[in-house]
Amino acid sequence: MPECEVCGRRIDKANRVSIDGIVLETCNNCSTLGKVLRRKKKNVKIRRHVPLPKIKVEEAKPKEINPDFSKILREKREQMKMMQKDVAIKLNLPLSLIKRAESGFRPEDSVLDRLEKFYGISLFEEEN
Ligand SMILES: [Zn+2]
Repeated sequence: MPECEVCGRRIDKANRVSIDGIVLETCNNCSTLGKVLRRKKKNVKIRRHVPLPKIKVEEAKPKEINPDFSKILREKREQMKMMQKDVAIKLNLPLSLIKRAESGFRPEDSVLDRLEKFYGISLFEEEN
């Protein structure tokens, strides 16, 4: 049985108390004289599995693009007597994107939207 290092009382469970900077094992009564030191706790980390809110990814259905869109883009541009780089500047798009679009690479819908508006055309097939 440990004894209280302050009053000498026998104690079941000693409190580690810092009194004036000296760490003593004390009874509960004497522990009020100083600062009770926390017993070393095992480093148990509570891991809470907080599920992250699932972000709904709304998959926009890719619209059916006119298979001739690249040809349309080129023709429209030529009608307007513009260079690819002029269109790129006007629409604030990279020139490479205009080039690619005119050579058959489908750009993003947002880009297509801008091209449609710019040329006043529709590049998408109408839904039935
Ligand atoms: Zn005591």
